[in-house]
Amino acid sequence: MPELPEVETVARDLRPRIVGATITGARCSWARTLRTHSPEAFAEAVAGRGVEAVGRRAKQIVIDLSGDAALTIHLKMTGQLFVVPADTPVDPYVRLVLELVDGREIRFRDIRKFGKIGLYGRDPATGELVTEVGGAAVFAALGPEPLDDAFTVREFRRLLRRRSGRLKPLLLDQSFIVGVGNIYADEALWASRLHPLRTAGTLRPADERHLFESVRTILAEAVERRGSSIDDYTAPDGDGSMQEHLQVYQRTGEPCPRCARPIKRIVIGARSTHLCSWCQRLGARDRKGAAAILRTMSGGPRRAGGRWTELAGEGTLGLTPAEAERATARTRTERTKRAAATRRAAARASVLR
Ligand SMILES: [Zn+2]
Repeated sequence: MPELPEVETVARDLRPRIVGATITGARCSWARTLRTHSPEAFAEAVAGRGVEAVGRRAKQIVIDLSGDAALTIHLKMTGQLFVVPADTPVDPYVRLVLELVDGREIRFRDIRKFGKIGLYGRDPATGELVTEVGGAAVFAALGPEPLDDAFTVREFRRLLRRRSGRLKPLLLDQSFIVGVGNIYADEALWASRLHPLRTAGTLRPADERHLFESVRTILAEAVERRGSSIDDYTAPDGDGSMQEHLQVYQRTGEPCPRCARPIKRIVIGARSTHLCSWCQRLGARDRKGAAAILRTMSGGPRRAGGRWTELAGEGTLGLTPAEAERATARTRTERTKRAAATRRAAARASVLR
């Protein structure tokens, strides 16, 4: 799922294309894409509004419209945005079209249909997006933006010290800090040499600073590289390149760039987590209660023999179990990557011709 760098890239690519444009109408082919309105009510509510700004809050794109309104777009798993001439053929995965007065259209394409678009007003008193005047702020539950200048190590410490959970789920918790998802949580924890199952309360001040700096550095680098084009993420100006610079994410079995021992994978809360169990040690205290999770570990030498050749399939005979597992993980990852690249190319070909 696109995280802060990917959503920021889409917002930056959209901005010069649509700021100043005027919306004349909307067509929606999947009503559940709309969070707040029926397709008819949405079309009526956006018609005649101008696009004033394009920004981002957490993992959502925020398009400010004239008349104190704003659209929020959550790309979720497979959402993509394109701006094309109206006569470009519409492919079957386009769920929502915003028609512009200049003869172009903003198209929201979403294969898996998890994406959500909302239309909200701004509370004149607070300037916050609200469901209704005087109602709850749309973004009220979100934590701070990690790349904001106002977000300091002091603030990070203060938030961290109020929490007792394990680091991986904590970094994914959008009420703690926003924008970090599975990819950049794994990368930041590896960079700070902290085990994903470590609990927040065991961090020393130096660990806290290291984690704060790693989160910011990695997110900033990923924004610079236009995000990680893994799965379906692509932006109006094309794919990102951060996937080529990730150190541990989806690199199960490959050597750790720091110590050369194989990268391991464990499953925390149904999410794959990638780590180096040598560089990222887990203390005895934090091992307690984590046994079930640690048993999901794959990617390195294990004792269970016999199963390997069957698991690994062809081309792995004669390899040690560890080598066979590494080869299997690599094949699986390569296949997934190729399939995703094909889907992204198809998206661009079908929308931008
Ligand atoms: Zn290592």
